[in-house]
This record gives sequence, structure tokens and C-alpha cells, in this order.
Amino acid sequence: EGALPYVGRFAPSPTGLLHAGSLVAALASWLDARAHGGRWLVRIEDVDTPRCQPGADDGILQQLATCGLTSDEPVCWQSQRDAEYQAALDGLKTEQAAYPCGCSRKDIATAQAAAHLEARRHHILPYPGTCRPDHGGLRGKPARAWRFDTRWGLPPDAPAPLTTWRDRRLGAQHQCVSDEVGDFVLRRADALWAYQLAVVVDDAAQGVTHVVRGEDLADNTARQILLQRALSLPTPRYLHTPLVRGDNGEKLSKQNGARALDLRDPTAALHAAGQHLGLHIAPTGKPADWLQQAVPAWRDQLQAWATGQQTAF
Ligand code: GLU
Repeated sequence: EGALPYVGRFAPSPTGLLHAGSLVAALASWLDARAHGGRWLVRIEDVDTPRCQPGADDGILQQLATCGLTSDEPVCWQSQRDAEYQAALDGLKTEQAAYPCGCSRKDIATAQAAAHLEARRHHILPYPGTCRPDHGGLRGKPARAWRFDTRWGLPPDAPAPLTTWRDRRLGAQHQCVSDEVGDFVLRRADALWAYQLAVVVDDAAQGVTHVVRGEDLADNTARQILLQRALSLPTPRYLHTPLVRGDNGEKLSKQNGARALDLRDPTAALHAAGQHLGLHIAPTGKPADWLQQAVPAWRDQLQAWATGQQTAF
């Protein structure tokens, strides 16, 4: 690992300001980059425009700067990368790894009920494959969305494959994407790019070697690996950080109204994020000094995770 050039990133969606949980992911990705002598990039994931909040992007960058976390390269905005996502989708179409889907939400719900599909992890109901080319395709319906064929490259009678990967904190992971998620969306019916496509294209374009992000996103990793393979892109290494829960036990999220970070004392905010990551250091100094101390503590924590001695969170 040490000899590789390291590129890490923090990729917030500007649907609101950072909360305590997002600072944990930002801090962990920054520390991991510094611990590997690598670069750390910030990417604003503003593809889901209806959910973006005006000014949240600048607000987030300001919050990060207050904590001493600044991108080593100019910040990238996904809303400016339409052509790159289109090129990736065109490539997938050429490979016949993507197909148009004419299903409305109601069509999908009806087909799911008929197939007795059940929600598994994260309440995802798999897409039942109604518009798959080998099921007859659009059947005259107009194309709405574009989907990834999770059985791409497999013989028709092959069993649904298990995608496996090793998380640097969670260890061995697996998901059968075809059964658990189904053929997922690349370009939405409202013509917006799906997170899965944008994140895979951008991680590769920016040369990201290590993804460090919150555990709530771990469930997307198998889908992203399938897309990377279909696009002949390298798969980065992944580390998913422990979730921050609110007083009600639910994960903190902008959706359930998590408060924005209190940055009147940025070192205290960093320290709280560091404690959540199991880092034992003094809660003192300016943010830059605190961050310097946190790098060796992060190395110790990586060692503990690697040897399976996870502390209880
Ligand atoms: N933009 C995503 C979010 O804020 C994170 C994407 C990622 O780290 O892969 O939830």
C-alpha cells in the first residue's frame, strides 16, 4: 500500500451543511490521505439538483476550511461534468451493458408485488427486470431511464454472481447485486445522472485510489465495482467509517434534520469526530495542530482495524 501513489477524496452532496456525521467522513478521508503521504480532493456531488440547497456547496467548503481541511486540487463540481457521464453511458450502451427502461414507479411496484420480491438490506426492492432486452425490452413503451444490466457479460443460464470486496475496516463483504438490488439506474427518468454512475466516473477521472466514506454508503460499493468493471476502470480500496447516530439511535442525516455542525470551536468539533473514530489525542491546539497529532493516531487505529481489534462504538 505504501508505495502506491495515494489519492483520496471527500464527496459531499450539497443538500445542506455538514453535520457531525459528515465531519467524521471528511476527517477520516483527510487523515487517511495524510497518513499515506497522499493527496486529498474535495468533490461537490450536486447531480441531484432538486435536492441541492443553494449556497450549501460554498457553505460546506467554508466549514471544511474552518476545520483546516482544504482540497489539494481545485474543487470539482459534478454539475459541470455532463459530457463525461454521457460518454460513460454511451460506452455502456455500446457494450450492451445498459438498456432503456420504460417503467413508471407504479409499473415497478406492480411487477415487484407479482414477483413477491421482498425488501432486503436498506429496504431496497430489486428492480424486477421488466425492460431487460432478454425479457422483451421496452415493448413499445417510451424510454424513461437507463439501467445497468447487472448480468452483463454472463451467459444467460449462469447463476446470479456474488460481488465480493474487502473493506479496510469491515473486512470481507459480499452482495448479489442482481438479486438484492437488480438492474440499477444510471440516468434517471427526470434526465438526471444517478449517483452510482457519477461517482464511478469521477473517482476514476480523479485517479482516486482510496475511498473513505460513511458506513451508510457501504451498500453501494458492489454496484460501483460492477460499473467499474463494465467501464474498464480500476477499483479503489474502500474503508467505511462508523456511523454517527443521533439521540434517537438513528443515523444522522440531513433528511432527518441533523443540526449543522457547531464550529465556534473547530478543534472541539474535530476532536468529537476523532473520538468517534477511536482516536486518542489531546483536545487542544488550533485545528492544524490537532490534525497533525491525529495522523499517527489514525495510523494506530488502521492497525487495530486491520488486526480485527475493533473498539466498540
Ligand atoms: N455524495 C455522497 C453523500 O454525500 C457521498 C458519495 C461517496 O462518498 O461515495 O452521501
